[in-house]
Amino acid sequence: MGGSITATTAAETLRLEGFDGAITILSQESRAPYTRVPLSKGALAGREDVDDITLPLPSDDIELRPGVRAESLDLSRRIVWTEQGPVPWDGLVIATGARARRLAPELNEFVVREHADCLRLQEASTDADSILVVGGGFLGMEIASTLRELGKSVTVVDREPPLQRLLGETVAARIRQVAADRGVQFHIAPDGVTLFGDQATPPRGVQTAAGRTLEADVVISAAGDVPNVDWLARSGLRYTDSGLRVDSRGRVRPDVVAAGDVAACPAPGGGHARIPSWTNAIDQARVAARALIRGDAAPRYDPSYYFWTEQFGLDIKVSGALVSDTELQVNDGWTADANPALLIWGEADAPLRVLGWNHKLRPAQLKRMTRRSPRVMST
Ligand SMILES: Cc1cc2nc3c(=O)[nH]c(=O)nc-3n(C[C@H](O)[C@H](O)[C@H](O)COP(=O)(O)OP(=O)(O)OC[C@H]3O[C@@H](n4cnc5c(N)ncnc54)[C@H](O)[C@@H]3O)c2cc1C
Repeated sequence: MGGSITATTAAETLRLEGFDGAITILSQESRAPYTRVPLSKGALAGREDVDDITLPLPSDDIELRPGVRAESLDLSRRIVWTEQGPVPWDGLVIATGARARRLAPELNEFVVREHADCLRLQEASTDADSILVVGGGFLGMEIASTLRELGKSVTVVDREPPLQRLLGETVAARIRQVAADRGVQFHIAPDGVTLFGDQATPPRGVQTAAGRTLEADVVISAAGDVPNVDWLARSGLRYTDSGLRVDSRGRVRPDVVAAGDVAACPAPGGGHARIPSWTNAIDQARVAARALIRGDAAPRYDPSYYFWTEQFGLDIKVSGALVSDTELQVNDGWTADANPALLIWGEADAPLRVLGWNHKLRPAQLKRMTRRSPRVMST
């Protein structure tokens, strides 16, 4: 269920596990699966087109049904209901991901989640001079970077200093400095902003709670994502705004698993949390598909928390969950202007988090470094 990287990886894993029954992927998008990663980077810049971002189906014995949205789920009869009719199943992989959080849906604001969003923003920004990005997380900063590279005047507005919550103050401040050196402006509005404009046309700007108005030719919301769980409303499955809860093997129940941006898995130290990143989608999909076949004999999920971001000419790779900057102990080559550099939070022989700043270490090497550290996982 869902036509993106989690669904295709789960389908591939089911085949690798020896499952030889029918596999059907239902996707509400009308086109073949594709990677979203370039939508804020090369695709937005016009360097990558639709062929470059398309994800191949793992094998030709997997049926993809594009343009078919799951409307509801009947667990007792094992049926997914769609507008085109019922789809029966013996095992179900929920991989419906997430959608962009909209701050002003009535204004038809710009967001970047689907390929169509990327094309719409590209078109709108072609003749624009000024761009306002609301939200300074990875997505907002990548969009800011790409549009700045295209010569636009870019302002990022957020409640808190961009990237701070995700990367810690030390690294975030340095990335903001690189962005500022390239001409990006930042505006911190601690009490948030309201988008304004005319009904059904894109917003013209934002107003801060303090009464300041910022206007731009194009206003983009990059204010997080919302898991696609609405279609499960009457299924009896437990979910919240924070996603669909799964166990340490990605199971919701023995015949239903979930993975990727929609799934909230056991978090270190207790509770459940989503890990909305590309690597997590792949790794979690593999675990969940195995659990569907092997049950308790399948391995548990041990997330690497690996992700990367490319912005302002920087290649940032991170492995390990976020830890406080007070744990930043080892700074291999880190000075205010060191480039490349490797940062380690925790002890050198058991790092909690490792960050490569334009560093040549490969993702697998970074992941291995944090694998050595102890983890507390609840089931
Ligand atoms: C612009 C952008 C840039 C990114 N860059 C990075 C990056 O640099 N590094 C990184 O680690 N991660 C990045 N990510 C995150 C990464 O792309 C996601 O974590 C990943 O796409 C999650 O995959 P998924 O398959 O779980 O969900 P999604 O990609 O959201 O796919 C879910 C699929 O399910 C379909 N669907 C939803 N509801 C239904 C329904 N009811 N019926 C049928 N189908 C349905 C959707 O249409 C979609 O096709 C980026 C994301 C975006 C949007």
